[in-house]
Amino acid sequence: MKVVVAGSGIAGVVAALRARVLGNEVVLVGSGRSASSRSLGVVDVLGYMKGGEVGNPEEGIRVLSEDCEEHPYALLGVEMVRQALEFFKEAVAAAGVPFMGRTTENIHIATQFGTVKPTCLAPEGVYAGRVERWHRRAVGIAGEEERNFSPRFVAESLSWLLPKLGVALPERIEAGDEGDIVLRPMRQGGTEAALPLLGDGEFVVKRLLEHAAALGVSVVEDRIRGARIEGGEVRAFMGTQSYTGDAFVLATGDWTGGGMHAFREAVLGLELVERSAEHFKKLPLPEEGHPYSRLGVRTDGALNPFYRGKKISNLRVAGALLGGYDYCTEKSGWGVAIATGYVAGGVG
Ligand SMILES: Cc1cc2nc3c(=O)[nH]c(=O)nc-3n(C[C@H](O)[C@H](O)[C@H](O)COP(=O)(O)OP(=O)(O)OC[C@H]3O[C@@H](n4cnc5c(N)ncnc54)[C@H](O)[C@@H]3O)c2cc1C
Repeated sequence: MKVVVAGSGIAGVVAALRARVLGNEVVLVGSGRSASSRSLGVVDVLGYMKGGEVGNPEEGIRVLSEDCEEHPYALLGVEMVRQALEFFKEAVAAAGVPFMGRTTENIHIATQFGTVKPTCLAPEGVYAGRVERWHRRAVGIAGEEERNFSPRFVAESLSWLLPKLGVALPERIEAGDEGDIVLRPMRQGGTEAALPLLGDGEFVVKRLLEHAAALGVSVVEDRIRGARIEGGEVRAFMGTQSYTGDAFVLATGDWTGGGMHAFREAVLGLELVERSAEHFKKLPLPEEGHPYSRLGVRTDGALNPFYRGKKISNLRVAGALLGGYDYCTEKSGWGVAIATGYVAGGVG
């Protein structure tokens, strides 16, 4: 089969890799910067749910699936999510950026904002620097001051924050101090304890794209502006040229990636999950999340979307373009993108 994937963020590249590994001819068409490349490059699977922190993401997905049937994790089921994340770990290892962690356990990592966040899978260095290892050890934050990173600020903020969180009791935190654990900005991976910075996702995606190209995926720089639909199926994605195929994946992201434009799916105008009546909120960023964040494309369990009331059976949607979930509040960004990318690419 010939599979055409639009969008070269993490969801698109995982979809392309899976489709290729299954023996398909694959074209990956993408253009512009992605949310994936702006991110920290760690895999949040499920960090928060119902206002509380999640210790075991697999367990969290089981509970969430009972209450929230339109959530992408509920559509796929926990077994498929686990399988997808195993596939991702094998792919990043083959691409030269091994990730550590288990889908049954969240870890905590420090951020460049001097905060601590839960995540699940992380590049080796970030995993080695996880907060769980700080107990009664000295921790130093090293690195040069730059536009949006100050080691001293991170250290001061963590010294204040950690006793309140009770997640670790380091002996002391001092900027640049050569203590037991010294966190340095991650940049290009490596096994030494590292602090991920915004934008580190870019090299993970870049390595995966190189890996995909080495496996025979044809990676093309172009912007898809529409699609040719005949007999209820997509025949081609239209960019500066026409990309014909048998199966199609749309992984163009949300407002950050460009897949959503205002309240519309930008390429085809696919149907969205119903907008909540309470989308007008007093606060722009309420703690329980904003209904706006849940807006995105509606699909069935196979990730097929709907267009003018009818399902398109040879098109699948993956990643942040999907509706029914809120990655900002849940901390589920790369987790959902990888799981749905894996399923969307599972053709042939
Ligand atoms: C600042 C920030 C930090 C984050 N940090 C984390 C984190 O550390 N961990 C985590 O798990 N999640 C994080 N998230 C969330 C996570 O990054 C996203 O949920 C995830 O990357 C979405 O991946 P995606 O592939 O679906 O979309 P994107 O990464 O946005 O990729 C979409 C791609 O499609 C391309 N595209 C769009 N329209 C077209 C078109 N018409 N034709 C061709 N190409 C097109 C875009 O240019 C882009 O390359 C963060 C998000 C933000 C904004």
